[in-house]
Amino acid sequence: MSRERWKEFRAVGRMLWEAGLVSSHGGNMSVRLPGAGLLITRTGAMLGRIGEGDLVPVAADGTPDGEPSMDTGVHRAVYSATDAGVVIHAHPRHAIAISLVADALEPADAEGKLRLGSVPVVEAEQVAQALREVPIVMARGHGSYARGDDLWQALQWTSVLEESAEVVWLLRTIAGTQDRSP
Ligand SMILES: [Zn+2]
Repeated sequence: MSRERWKEFRAVGRMLWEAGLVSSHGGNMSVRLPGAGLLITRTGAMLGRIGEGDLVPVAADGTPDGEPSMDTGVHRAVYSATDAGVVIHAHPRHAIAISLVADALEPADAEGKLRLGSVPVVEAEQVAQALREVPIVMARGHGSYARGDDLWQALQWTSVLEESAEVVWLLRTIAGTQDRSP
């Protein structure tokens, strides 16, 4: 593994944690390797402080060299269904709450509309198929899966999604307040 690649994992993981997009030991990230393998964070890794031993290579046939994330199967499915270069799974909290009560997250803010459009809410086994059509989806009640050309791009989709979800949440709060006004 190149040092540059590790530094990208470390920097993006720290931003996911600092932005509150994952809990201390939650979420995972991977990059596609030449020859259809992948490099993924190990199970139990803390994305806010990824060390050099926290990245596990997984061969094209699924054989890991270490203890990869328990989510490795979903990442492999995304790479075989799409041309994604990376996958990020995070736990954006407003988006998770909305995913429990809606079948799609519809951004109301300008950036969310421009960057994402409608974000589907799907069951875990439908994530890879859904990512053929859109750059980010929500697994219902669980979290987001974003694909990208590099980790920075998938971080962007994740960050924009949670911002849009929080705006939707705030709008509902405002609407609720107005309903109660005389
Ligand atoms: Zn998760």
